[in-house]
Amino acid sequence: MSDTLTAAAAKPHYSFFHGVERNFDKAASYTRFEKGILEQIKACNSVYQMKFPVRIGDKIEVIEAYRVQHSHHKLPCKGGIRYSMDVNQDEVMALAALMTYKCAIVNVPFGGGKGGIRINPKNYTPFELEKITRRYASELVKKNFIGPGIDVPAPDYGTGAREMSWIADTYASLKPGEVDALGCVTGKPVTQGGVRGRTEATGLGVFYGVRELCNTAEDMKKLGLNTGIEGKRVIVQGLGNVGYYAAKFFYDNGAIIVGLAEYEGGIYSDKGLNLYDVVEHRKATGSILGFAGATEFKNSFDTLEQPCDILIPAALENVINAGNADRIQAKIIGEGANGPLTPEADEILNKKGVIVVPDMYLNAGGVTVSYFEWLKNLSHVRFGRMDKRFSENQNAFILNSVEGLIGKKVTDRERNMIMHGPDEVDLVYSGLEDTMIGSYHEIRESLLSSGASDMRTAAFVVAINKVGVAYEELGIFP
Ligand code: GLU
Repeated sequence: MSDTLTAAAAKPHYSFFHGVERNFDKAASYTRFEKGILEQIKACNSVYQMKFPVRIGDKIEVIEAYRVQHSHHKLPCKGGIRYSMDVNQDEVMALAALMTYKCAIVNVPFGGGKGGIRINPKNYTPFELEKITRRYASELVKKNFIGPGIDVPAPDYGTGAREMSWIADTYASLKPGEVDALGCVTGKPVTQGGVRGRTEATGLGVFYGVRELCNTAEDMKKLGLNTGIEGKRVIVQGLGNVGYYAAKFFYDNGAIIVGLAEYEGGIYSDKGLNLYDVVEHRKATGSILGFAGATEFKNSFDTLEQPCDILIPAALENVINAGNADRIQAKIIGEGANGPLTPEADEILNKKGVIVVPDMYLNAGGVTVSYFEWLKNLSHVRFGRMDKRFSENQNAFILNSVEGLIGKKVTDRERNMIMHGPDEVDLVYSGLEDTMIGSYHEIRESLLSSGASDMRTAAFVVAINKVGVAYEELGIFP
């Protein structure tokens, strides 16, 4: 990897929010909205920075944290909370803005939001993390920055179901009797009001989105690739929640994982890596390095530059930039992370004819299933509870009638498949699949008709059109 990449990735004055604004402005010229509406869509509606003390061991630490509500055109606001030393106001604003566009693209009726706590979670015990999280949640309650109809956080980088459970409990204890309290946060454990399928949702959505592109014959022809996922050579950066599940679904569906990159380094094998063996190896040794038969890269970023058809950056923002974009060999880049490409990298890759499937569409699986979880919490019933048995009875009746008429019996496997009524996870997966396929074609349609020349701009056009119309129909306060 070049020094430029390290320098750019660490560059303190790179404004992520400005990068999002630049992409927005490029797309805005393909829409019909007046300047004022565009300015309003772009702006962050509320930015809350807080500092609060937490006793860690025998010291008091002042914790810096944020919650940004980018858009109130629909409520509640929605978006994750990240724990990282890179958290700052600019980053949270950019991520909140992306959430607004993301929700619009996948037709999830929320405004965008995002939160962050500037800590390295690895430096704290679970007890300390719980204290920090609960204090953060109570600060949000104090300022009316959280609630099922106000603003609904979710997991993001450095957080997961455990943190969401603490937030839900803190909220519920401060709002006794609020019947919809569980809908104040999503990504909860299933036992605490979570929905089945939420954990893997973002990675699965990444897979569904890229699969839809690969199934579109015209687009594959342009790239000189065969249609379908099977046999496609994939590199994944980041084996966290998004990257791991994306890699898993690619692998399970016949793609070849040729490269994996983590912060300790990267591995590559032309013949393909067995994902599950790599994960076992990492569990046993603490690193993906040293995996038998693979070429190693001490500098993880070098992995991204190796030959492949599909590159999935699923770690953090700004990893492909002016310093390394021209060395990327992938024909398709699927943005699992938020903002992994800078606008400069976008330009270079678009010129090379690479198809970049943008974050605000591709990683929207998480928020889509969060929406399902929120609906479940408001309706107080598990998906499938009302109709599973009914469907199974109907299916059995139809199958028995058909077997009676034709005088033949299906195999046991076929019988199970036909009879099966939907469980919660079946409904969540099919709702997600339908969303990712539908939105892919909305963006493709915009690419063909709006004048935009790349998928990111086309996706922005889709989002701006939806949010713009919402503002027009809402009416602007005189
Ligand atoms: N943090 C995820 C994202 O960036 C999920 C947000 C949510 O579920 O609200 O999209």
